[in-house]
Amino acid sequence: MVEQFAKLHPCDPCESCRFEAWQRIVGGRLRWEESQECTAYGFIACGGGWGPPPPWVRERILAEEGAVRLAVGGPDGLPLKAVRELYGLTLPELIAAREHGIEATPVEARMLTSAEGTAGPG
Ligand SMILES: [Zn+2]
Repeated sequence: MVEQFAKLHPCDPCESCRFEAWQRIVGGRLRWEESQECTAYGFIACGGGWGPPPPWVRERILAEEGAVRLAVGGPDGLPLKAVRELYGLTLPELIAAREHGIEATPVEARMLTSAEGTAGPG
């Protein structure tokens, strides 16, 4: 029946294809979900996982919801530790993030900005 589950695209995205990707925070952890449904080919695939989404999912979320540019490090920036943990950055990537900031999705931004104030009100 559905042997290609979440593995290969059975068709190039056509008019009947609906692709959705979104993120949410579950128990303080970042989670992503995606679903593809093609009514023409009768195909449904779902995927999801913890942490930052794969690049193609993330690009779609950024395209739909917009990117939030965040400063990293310094008095006004996000804690380096939180950024590194969320994205699993290597040290060179972390240094680049500190210099240039990062582009986060709105949900990632909420996750990162709330991480530093977990002990405070709100
Ligand atoms: Zn299709």
